[in-house]
Amino acid sequence: MSLFTRIEVQRLLRALIDGKISVIEPKFDIGHGFSYPVVVDVTGASDEVLEPILNELSSLDILTSTVVDNIAVCPTCGSYKLMMQMRCPKCGMPNLQRGTMIEHLTCGHLDMEENFGEGELLTCPKCGKSLRAIGVDYRRLSMMYRCLSCKGISPDPRKHYICENGHSFDEEDLVIKEIRSYRFNPAKRGLIEKELVDFKPIVDRFKKIWNYKTPAILIGQTGAEHEFSFAMWEKGKTDGRRPEIVANLSTNEKAVGVTDVLAFQAKAADVGAREKILMVMPKLDEKGKLLASSYGIQVSEAKTASELQEKTIEILKQTATKRDKKTLESEAKKLEKLLEEIRK
Ligand SMILES: [Zn+2]
Ligand SMILES: [Zn+2]
Ligand SMILES: [Zn+2]
Repeated sequence: MSLFTRIEVQRLLRALIDGKISVIEPKFDIGHGFSYPVVVDVTGASDEVLEPILNELSSLDILTSTVVDNIAVCPTCGSYKLMMQMRCPKCGMPNLQRGTMIEHLTCGHLDMEENFGEGELLTCPKCGKSLRAIGVDYRRLSMMYRCLSCKGISPDPRKHYICENGHSFDEEDLVIKEIRSYRFNPAKRGLIEKELVDFKPIVDRFKKIWNYKTPAILIGQTGAEHEFSFAMWEKGKTDGRRPEIVANLSTNEKAVGVTDVLAFQAKAADVGAREKILMVMPKLDEKGKLLASSYGIQVSEAKTASELQEKTIEILKQTATKRDKKTLESEAKKLEKLLEEIRK
């Protein structure tokens, strides 16, 4: 499932499993609209990227969702930054007057309140009679609109909208978007754990040979900070800086390409790592493979988390064997030298 190979999804699922996030609440601010700051923080992705991910996770029942609000948006571009304009529903003109109106029930005349005179005594401007009691011979209607162009009267003017990108539309076309809050569904914990790539069980198998950090944030020779999925140092033979092995996970919906290989090579070179392992999900494209092998990067390629674990462990085993051979060779050379000196 390509959804789970995405780095944002992996980070979000990890936070859910670890209990760092349990409820995902939307926050509103006028500059950005609705946003999910906890998820943005934990994934490093933008709300535009996260919205479809949250929807997909809730359609898989990994998250349960509830509608907590709604927001009116432009039908063309989805912007919530709208300007509303009132129009006369009869003639469409914008020249509207808003106020309280009085209807004289005796003669049927409907007019703005101020036209019935000031003070206690109200007089109908049409028939000239004094009004007696509210509810008996007249009634009051608040929030009425009168069009000064066609003299039409309405309680409900037509609303017209223009969005920040200049799209203009009427109320019928306004899109009402649901705003949801999400909650982790604990029943899906097992499923998630299977899909999550966990580096600790990989590196922990080799703890007799290597010290490790996962994730590892290392400072390179350039002074830049680099994050790796894990880094390993040979036990007893380390200044604690230059790692023997660095590894990184790259994911892509279809295939990881040369950009990720280049970025990884640059980071690994900056921290002076001897062995480089690039883990990719679901696969590395052909150009990427060529480039990786020219840099001496070992590639662990897998479609699922468990397959990735197995393959990465295999690479580390080979690296350990290679390292043993090197140690033996150098020991043998030392012995030879010693023997030569003895012979002299
Ligand atoms: Zn628009
Ligand atoms: Zn009008
Ligand atoms: Zn009247």
